[in-house]
Amino acid sequence: MRRLFVAGNWKMNTNLASGKELAKAVAAEATRLGDVIDVAVCPPFPYLASVKTELQGSKVKLGAQNVWFAAPGAFTGETAVEMLTDVGCSWVILGHSERRQILGEKDELINKKIAAATSEDLGVIFCIGELLEDRQAARTEAVLETQLAGGLANLDAAVMGQIVIAYEPVWAIGTGVTASPEQAEGAHAFIRGWLTKQYGAKVADGVRILYGGSVKADNAEILLSQPNVDGALVGGASLTAAQFGPILQAAAKCAAAG
Ligand code: PEP
Repeated sequence: MRRLFVAGNWKMNTNLASGKELAKAVAAEATRLGDVIDVAVCPPFPYLASVKTELQGSKVKLGAQNVWFAAPGAFTGETAVEMLTDVGCSWVILGHSERRQILGEKDELINKKIAAATSEDLGVIFCIGELLEDRQAARTEAVLETQLAGGLANLDAAVMGQIVIAYEPVWAIGTGVTASPEQAEGAHAFIRGWLTKQYGAKVADGVRILYGGSVKADNAEILLSQPNVDGALVGGASLTAAQFGPILQAAAKCAAAG
């Protein structure tokens, strides 16, 4: 069975004090639940090192929200993979719809970033998902296929152990509208089928596919109970321990249920 993974994407939120406090509370809750699920928090860049300090002694991993693909050098404003691992990052979120939509990131650039991260010891939470108009026009699978093929181009099976896919329908991100368990399971099964065709069943069975899009305490358990939903990428509800804690508890309950 794949181990459930819940990651909090703090986006451009918190400040130094509130970020440290939140990290401490997440670490305490994860420790209280025991070593039954994987947990990560992804704070803004300026707070990575301080948050890492707060996570020490817990199993909660640190993630960043972006990375550049080149080696350290003359790239003003960018951050290299080595810098993230240096401050203790285990994960980086790539392909997020906000970066695709607002910053114009294309599959080709995302692919270079994934290749750079996985060539070092950095795990990737690779986000894909369709727009509302795509779903309404029955183009969901075509969009997912294009994003998977583009983002994972030239990456062989050996690096798939470092990659987690996050299915995040754009219409569900930050909207309060959640994909139904059936919609999530359908998309996740399609993604696993694509991975199977590309990498074979053994590799595809080991890849975790997270759901993201308005995950909350009251919908986490049903979503996480779907056979191909292996965790959650949580935005808004990861910003307070009061909301994130119950999502971790739901994941732990699903893990115990097998
Ligand atoms: C996200 O941005 O990755 C996300 C899932 O956000 P939210 O949970 O707020 O919909």
